[in-house]
Amino acid sequence: MIDYQRPLRVRYAPSPTGQTHVGGVRTALFNYLLARKTGGALILRVEDTDEERHSPQSEASMMADLRWFGLSWDEGPDVGGVFGPYRQSERLGLYDGYSRELLESGTAYRCYCTPDELDAERTEQRARGIVATKYSGRCRRLSAAQRAAFEEEGRKWSLRFHVPPGRSEVDDLIKGKVHFENDAFGDFIMMKSTGGPTYNFAAAVDDALMQVSVVLRGDEHLANTPVQMMLLQALGLQQPRYAHVPLILNEDHSKLSKRHNTVGIEEYRSQGVLPEALLNHLVLLGWSPGDDREEFTLAELPEIFSLERIHKSPAIYNADRLRAFNQRALRKLPPPQLRAMIASAMQEAGFLENPAPEPALRWLDLFIEAYGEELHTIGDAIPRVKALRDEAVVVPALELERLRSRDVLFYLDAVSQYVDDQSELRGLPLSHDLPEIAKEFGLKKKEAFHCVRMALTGEKGGPPLTLLFPLLGHDRIMMRIGAISSHLLHGRGLEPIKYGPDGQPFEPIRGVKSESPDSA
Ligand code: GLU
Repeated sequence: MIDYQRPLRVRYAPSPTGQTHVGGVRTALFNYLLARKTGGALILRVEDTDEERHSPQSEASMMADLRWFGLSWDEGPDVGGVFGPYRQSERLGLYDGYSRELLESGTAYRCYCTPDELDAERTEQRARGIVATKYSGRCRRLSAAQRAAFEEEGRKWSLRFHVPPGRSEVDDLIKGKVHFENDAFGDFIMMKSTGGPTYNFAAAVDDALMQVSVVLRGDEHLANTPVQMMLLQALGLQQPRYAHVPLILNEDHSKLSKRHNTVGIEEYRSQGVLPEALLNHLVLLGWSPGDDREEFTLAELPEIFSLERIHKSPAIYNADRLRAFNQRALRKLPPPQLRAMIASAMQEAGFLENPAPEPALRWLDLFIEAYGEELHTIGDAIPRVKALRDEAVVVPALELERLRSRDVLFYLDAVSQYVDDQSELRGLPLSHDLPEIAKEFGLKKKEAFHCVRMALTGEKGGPPLTLLFPLLGHDRIMMRIGAISSHLLHGRGLEPIKYGPDGQPFEPIRGVKSESPDSA
C-alpha cells in the first residue's frame, strides 16, 4: 500500500528517439496523476545515453507532445530542479564514480571478452540446448596475470556486475510479489565498452539520486527491476517502490502496433483527435474508476486515480471508444474553435485558401451546423466537404430506379426551377414550398423530400434541406438535378453512376419536360 498523504516523487523517463508513443504518454499521465494527487513532484528525465538514436529534435518534440496532451512537470531539463541535470548524457561523471566504487569493492569486474568470443559462448550454450543464454562469468575468474595481459593487449573492456546467487523479490505495487532466480540473469553489463552506462545502471542510480519514491512504468520493464534493485543494494542507495502498469495490446492481443492502430501522438494530433478525448481513452487503458464513469478532466483525475485501481492484466486498445470520446469532445468545443480546426484541416488538404475568405468561413459555420454533431475527428470533415463541393454525386442503382418516373423527374425539374428563381438559399421555407410543388405532380411530402435529397447527395439521411441547399449552392443544385434527369431520360442502365462534367454530358432538364422519361 502507498501512503497518499505523503508527497510522492515520481518520474517519467523516456528515451526520445522518434515519435512519442501512446504507451509512453499513458505512463507519463499515470505518473503525473500520482504526483498531483499527493502534492509531490513529477520529474522528466531524458534517457539519452544512446547517442546514436537520440536527437535534440526528438527531445523537443517529445516535450511538445506531452504539453499538447496537457501534462506539466516540476523538474526536468527545461525547467531545472535541485536534482539535475535531468539529461543522462549530462550525468556521465556520476555513473563513472559509482561504477568505480563497485569495481573497487569487487562487486563489479572488467570483462575483456570480444563480441566474437561472446557470440561463440552463446552458440556453444545453444548447442547444449540452453535457450536463455547468459554470460558465463569467465572474466570474473581471470587471474591478475591474465588481466594484465589483456590490458597490455589494449583490449577494450566493459564493466559487469557480479550477480549474487539466490532469489530476488520485487514487491510490486500493482502485481504484488514477483520472484526471480538470480541465476537467470548472468553477470550483466553496467558500463559499456564505449564508456557510457547501460540503461539499467543509469536508471537505478538516477532513481536513487533523484529520490524517486515510486517508479511507475510499463510492464516490459518488470524484468529489469531485480537488476536495478541489486545495483542499488550494492551501492547502498535507497530503493524506490515499483509499480508496473499493464501492457496495451491490439484487439487481437498482439503488442500495440502501428499496423493495427495509431500509436504516435503526432498522428493523433494531425488526425484531429483532441487531447481531452485521448486523455479519457488513455486513462481507461489499464485503470478504472470503480464505477461506470468514463468522462474525466485532467483536473479532476488526481483525486479519483489510485494505484489500487490499476489492472493487473493487459489493456485492449479500443479505437471505437476513442472515436466516441472524440466525438463528444468535438461537440463540446465552442463553434469558433471547431471552425478554426476544420479550416486548418481544409487548408492542409488544399480545399481552402489561407487566410480563409469571409464567405468561406460563413459557409463553414453552416457546415458545422449541418455536420458538426456527426464528426468523430476533424479529419471526418474533409470527405464531407469534398462531397459537398464535388460536381459529381453517386446515387445507388436502386435509388436511381426509384427516381425514374415522369412525376419525379418533373418534380425535380420544378425544384430546380424554384432554386433558380431564388437570390438567397438561406432561410427558404422549404418545408412549406417543397410539398407545395410536389402536390402538382401528385407526390407525397415524404417521397418528395426523399427524392430531392437523393438527387442532391445520393444519401437517404443527412442534415435538413434548409442547411443542405445553401451548403450546396445554386449551381451545384442545378447541376446535380440536371445530371440525374439527363441520365434517367437517356437511360443508361442501373449501375451507380458518377455524374459530372467529366462523366455524363450535362443537359439541363428544362425543355425536355414534355418528353416521356422512358422514351430513350
Ligand atoms: N528509458 C526507458 C524507456 O523509455 C525508461 C524505462 C523506465 O521507466 O525505467 O523505456
